[in-house]
Amino acid sequence: MRTATCIGCRCTDFHACQGEDGPCSWLAVDYGAGLGVCSGCPDQLKRWQAGERSVLMLVAKITREGESTPFFIESNDMASFPLLLDVEPGDKFAVEWLEMSSNDFEALPQFEQVRLARQWLAECQAAAAAEKNGLTDQARVHQAEGARIAAAVAAAGYEVTHLAQFL
Ligand SMILES: [Zn+2]
Ligand SMILES: [Zn+2]
Repeated sequence: MRTATCIGCRCTDFHACQGEDGPCSWLAVDYGAGLGVCSGCPDQLKRWQAGERSVLMLVAKITREGESTPFFIESNDMASFPLLLDVEPGDKFAVEWLEMSSNDFEALPQFEQVRLARQWLAECQAAAAAEKNGLTDQARVHQAEGARIAAAVAAAGYEVTHLAQFL
């Protein structure tokens, strides 16, 4: 049997949410897409009818005191908060919970930085490999490209070595 997930609350055929009248049912469902809108989320019908098929996520917007660039963590990943933000005793953060579609979440600037960190890592590895093979000029080209990427990431308020720990 196919299952679908509610785009509002993420309930499924096997894990219905409980309302006052018992378990929810589908107001709209597309088993082909594996998505629907359950009776607990009537306000999501508008999004559904507009053709939106992305599931809402609960996301923490975390801003370190004194800094302006927030970092976003999905509620299920909150255990990684201390690692991602390099938490030390006495650190203060402002946390705001937001509801966000998975499309909006993936389009966040922080993921652009993660993509850049991945490129940076590849340049570092290419530079090391070239050096090992005695290709000094080639190594220098990769090092320069790596430095350019690291500078771009730093300009956006992130640290490439820190981001690379999570790749
Ligand atoms: Zn729902
Ligand atoms: Zn439901």
